[in-house]
Amino acid sequence: MTGNDWGSVTERLGGNSYEVDEGNSHILVHQEEARRTGTGKLLVRVCPAHVYSEEEDGTIAVEYAACLECGTCRAVAAPGTLEWHYPEGSMGVSFREG
Ligand code: SF4
Repeated sequence: MTGNDWGSVTERLGGNSYEVDEGNSHILVHQEEARRTGTGKLLVRVCPAHVYSEEEDGTIAVEYAACLECGTCRAVAAPGTLEWHYPEGSMGVSFREG
């Protein structure tokens, strides 16, 4: 019970729809710089959509299809660690709830 009628964040995110630009990620992590600066672990922690995950070898995997285009990762990434642009054309997330 959340105490309101809004439901959980996960439930609300489930209402969104996505047009996935297959094979054309709008996010690129520069792995060596991300590792050196600690940005990789930070990306894993801050992304509300769990786009980033750390593999056993320390590589940061990117599931760009789930991106909410919120910009949080761009705000926290050290210079030279992340390339991010909006998905092309009509690709990306469509929000169903305000
Ligand atoms: S823009 Fe937001 S949702 Fe997309 S990868 Fe960055 S933090 Fe995650």
